[in-house]
Amino acid sequence: MKRTLATLSVLLLAVSCGSDSESTTDPGDTSDVVVDVDPDLFLEGTTVTTVSLTLSDGTVADCYKVVAGSPTDHEMGPWCPRNISDGEEAGGIWLENGEVYDVDGAFVANMATFYGDDTWHMYDADGDIYVTETEQDCINAANPNVGDAYRNFCVECIPDYVSDLEQTWYIPVTPVRQSSPADFAAMGPGGSGPAIRGIAFNGVEFSASAPVDNILGAHTLAPFDDAGGHINVHQGYHYHAATGLSTAVTQSDGHAAMIGYAADGYGIYEQRNEDGSEPDDLDACRGHYDDARGYHYHVDAPGSNNFINCLYGAYAN
Ligand SMILES: [Zn+2]
Ligand SMILES: [Zn+2]
Repeated sequence: MKRTLATLSVLLLAVSCGSDSESTTDPGDTSDVVVDVDPDLFLEGTTVTTVSLTLSDGTVADCYKVVAGSPTDHEMGPWCPRNISDGEEAGGIWLENGEVYDVDGAFVANMATFYGDDTWHMYDADGDIYVTETEQDCINAANPNVGDAYRNFCVECIPDYVSDLEQTWYIPVTPVRQSSPADFAAMGPGGSGPAIRGIAFNGVEFSASAPVDNILGAHTLAPFDDAGGHINVHQGYHYHAATGLSTAVTQSDGHAAMIGYAADGYGIYEQRNEDGSEPDDLDACRGHYDDARGYHYHVDAPGSNNFINCLYGAYAN
């Protein structure tokens, strides 16, 4: 019986190897080494337990339930500077055309020029910047149909506005490769996959792209802090960019450092290797395979308002 099973495995391996060599355009289509999620990588302040859940491929599998509150490895904020004379330490960052800009006083003072739009004038005669000051302001300003009331406001939702910053995530203990990748759900209703891209070791969500066109279209600015995160009252604190401030696990072979796990349990790594190079064999999801890490993802550039593009593994429903 054992021998029959062994023979069958060899046959299956042979079949999958055959299909691998045919699809050379898909460098991610290799699964010799599969690396389980390491629960010890999650930081103090997170709670990791094991639960049994149905995955997107219909199978039932062990998943880690990760419960996290505020990040314990860096501060949240600041977001909006208060005066156009303020330096970069008073504000966060903004992402535009693939670049990361410090939101300091000078950035705010220069917005009409930066965007070629004279409507931008987010400060008074004393140089004081109009910043949302209450939870209601923060909620109202996040509404894309907010209208003129919050035009030329810097929108800032502070941790005090969120009574419970606790978030719960589920990721498969062992990643399960799918034959085709799953797209992420679009913001709002609709879409099939999960909306979250993954989580950092501090339990903070790597989020969908921030709706910067809506934000700017309302002539508001909703900066991210230097860690690439900000708060809305529904999602809590979440990241839109990997800027290198959350905990990263250095790799001994010069490969990019690991910064978290995708929603399918595959590892998420920084964009660039230690020598500054970016892997040149990433698939459409921004993933590739090596024997040390198995299949894994590399995040997009910090200024891109994007992390990864799809999931090649099954995710918890
Ligand atoms: Zn956001
Ligand atoms: Zn890699």
